[in-house]
Amino acid sequence: MASRSTRKDMQGLSVFLALAIIILIIVVIAQLRHQAFHAVFVATAWASGLLAILLGATWPTKCKVKTRLKKPCRNWAYGFVFGCRQTSHFWDKFFARIRLDREALNYAQPSGPPTDNDAEPSSQSEPAQQPIKVRIEESACDKCGFWLGVAAALATLVQTIALFAGH
Ligand SMILES: [Zn+2]
Repeated sequence: MASRSTRKDMQGLSVFLALAIIILIIVVIAQLRHQAFHAVFVATAWASGLLAILLGATWPTKCKVKTRLKKPCRNWAYGFVFGCRQTSHFWDKFFARIRLDREALNYAQPSGPPTDNDAEPSSQSEPAQQPIKVRIEESACDKCGFWLGVAAALATLVQTIALFAGH
């Protein structure tokens, strides 16, 4: 279970990362004035890397993954990119978000109205095996956080490669 203290830790870490990003942006502006472009590049790479961690792994949000049969998941997830850690939601959310719907198909547990067939718990009835599309109950903020996080991760990757190639 994601305990309350885990959430507190992640909250603290998120605030720390946000402050570090702000400081790095100030450094970038200061170095731009001195036209120290290598320092600007390094600081930008650090800033986007920390932003990717912040949006991808630490910022506490609600999971909100939902299937047609279930309500949006109310577990805590960290970052906007993945779902909660307890279930298949972790990857479901990512794949549903990037519209890889075939990957995001989830097989829902039968939870229809009770029938007289309850004496047969092992029966694999047809409707129970229907793939259920995973959706995310998302706000504009969630969507923005996801794509910003992905963009920051890609930017960090490109910048890191460029820095190593430059040496
Ligand atoms: Zn979940």
